[in-house]
Amino acid sequence: MSEGVERETMDFDVVIVGAGPAGLAAAIRLKQLAAEAGKDVSVVVLEKGSEVGAHILSGAVIDAVGLDKLIPDWREQGSPLKTEVSEDRFYYLWKTGGIRVPNIFMPPLMSNHGCYIGSLGSLCRWLGEQAEQAGVEIYPGIAVTEAIFGANGAIEGVITGDKGIARDGSHKDSYTPGIALRGKYTLIAEGARGSLSKQLINKLGLDSESGPQKFGIGLKELWEVPADRHRPGLVQHTMGWPLDDKTGGGSFLYHFGERLVSVGFVVHLDYANPYLNPFKEFQRAKTHPLIRTHLEGGKRIAYGARALTEGGWQAIPQLAFPGGALIGCAAGFMNVPRIKGSHNAMLSGMMAAEAAFAAIETGRAGDVLEAYPASVEASDMAKELRKVRNVKPLWSRLGTAAGVMFGGIDMWLNTVFPFLPHTLKHKKADYAGLSKASGARPIEYEKPDGKLTFDILSSVFLSGTNHEEDQPVHLRLTDPSIPIERNLPEYAEPAQRYCPALVYEVVGEGETVRFQINAQNCVHCKTCDVKDPAQNITWVPPEGGDGPNYVNM
Ligand SMILES: Cc1cc2nc3c(=O)[nH]c(=O)nc-3n(C[C@H](O)[C@H](O)[C@H](O)COP(=O)(O)OP(=O)(O)OC[C@H]3O[C@@H](n4cnc5c(N)ncnc54)[C@H](O)[C@@H]3O)c2cc1C
Ligand code: SF4
Repeated sequence: MSEGVERETMDFDVVIVGAGPAGLAAAIRLKQLAAEAGKDVSVVVLEKGSEVGAHILSGAVIDAVGLDKLIPDWREQGSPLKTEVSEDRFYYLWKTGGIRVPNIFMPPLMSNHGCYIGSLGSLCRWLGEQAEQAGVEIYPGIAVTEAIFGANGAIEGVITGDKGIARDGSHKDSYTPGIALRGKYTLIAEGARGSLSKQLINKLGLDSESGPQKFGIGLKELWEVPADRHRPGLVQHTMGWPLDDKTGGGSFLYHFGERLVSVGFVVHLDYANPYLNPFKEFQRAKTHPLIRTHLEGGKRIAYGARALTEGGWQAIPQLAFPGGALIGCAAGFMNVPRIKGSHNAMLSGMMAAEAAFAAIETGRAGDVLEAYPASVEASDMAKELRKVRNVKPLWSRLGTAAGVMFGGIDMWLNTVFPFLPHTLKHKKADYAGLSKASGARPIEYEKPDGKLTFDILSSVFLSGTNHEEDQPVHLRLTDPSIPIERNLPEYAEPAQRYCPALVYEVVGEGETVRFQINAQNCVHCKTCDVKDPAQNITWVPPEGGDGPNYVNM
């Protein structure tokens, strides 16, 4: 903890970091339990986005199982989820065509029927309102930077980032130190690759038995399309082209709302070729006849990117530790083959809330919420994640075509015989999968046409990203010499390509070559923190309220 700074302190029963589906579901559930018991429980939710939903980016086809449990009458209460899935298509693509996998071959758990298409950001805004009406205190524009540890090693709350520090470290006139929020329990709901979660996982060794987490980068655009192209309720997923067989990922395309189409692309971050550019692969994917036909004549209205967890059941770290717990995608409850995590984020948040409430009721504080991992273990969520646990390892080992086939067979086997014991482990962390540039094939990408395909900077503009420029750079290099001295000769410095916001550039030539960090463009996706081959980049939160301002994402 930063010493010598006088901080305001606030005390709560439960402190929650992150107003995504996990954090908000936990907050609402705590208040529900308190109301049922005729008690009060004080709950605060801290969110780094300028408002709830501003940093939420998802598909999203939402399995309503979490929402049904949390707010059973959510349909009548005016939730923004309105479009029910009516058609569900999955294609394996090659450059000019593709083959549709008949729905009958897909394991039942892969079906999207009964799910809803919408914006997870809008759903979170609505959940935020429900939470506030129940008495939860939500503070947006506040980034959490550190945990507070007590003398016995238990987490006792968090510290929020200072505001008004200049790039050179001096205090500006606007300087205000962060505050300390103390809680009997602290729930970490930062989503994929949270910065505080990473600190806690490392410090407390929470992943010592689970092995490495796996990640993907998801890029998304929101389009408004002509009425005659709009098919509300249509869900389409693809794998294959434009990625080669060794590179995992694929596209998603969802029609919903008033002439809206969410189109996006996921690249698994264990890709090997350092010349691969996920943003440009996404642009290329949109030129496929099976995708472009949905967008032509339409207008792109939003863009963004965010990492997602892909390790599944076997990569879930220890969930509870003295005084706190990881919930949602901070723990990694994402079902990768379904590309769905929001329902499990909510369910895990509710389970942690139930454990915390029961503990507080009996006068406990700061101990391990053992009831939370126990309920996860016994839950339907665990059954769902166990069924698909081998799919991602099979994709990584066999490549896309064979991986999709054998992954499908494995899901069927695990559906019919749910007690099959075999679990394939993830072999290595994503950054360790990058090949040296000397043995890799440079990839040629076509220039964007400005109608269907776009450049990065005009895309970042649509994310509404904004950062106070005079503040310390929030992409921290452990060793500033590594990008040019090691990453450039060995990997052609892949940060120039994997970052979906052109934050990293290698500029100049020969003696004057240098690594430039355009931190103001950062859309907080966390990909650099995952993929840098030297693990030399640490993403830390910039000033609260900075970053993207996503609407309807
Ligand atoms: C491209 C893409 C497509 C997806 N498609 C689907 C889909 O169709 N269906 C589906 O169910 N799931 C989908 N997912 C997954 C889904 O979005 C996640 O599972 C879900 O958002 C996880 O919820 P969460 O609350 O754990 O984290 P998040 O939704 O990531 O929310 C975390 C919140 O915490 C805040 N935060 C983080 N760190 C801090 C900090 N230090 N201080 C303060 N605030 C902080 C963030 O700003 C954010 O608001 C998709 C994900 C991606 C990236
Ligand atoms: S700098 Fe890192 S976190 Fe920010 S947009 Fe680029 S890859 Fe994502």
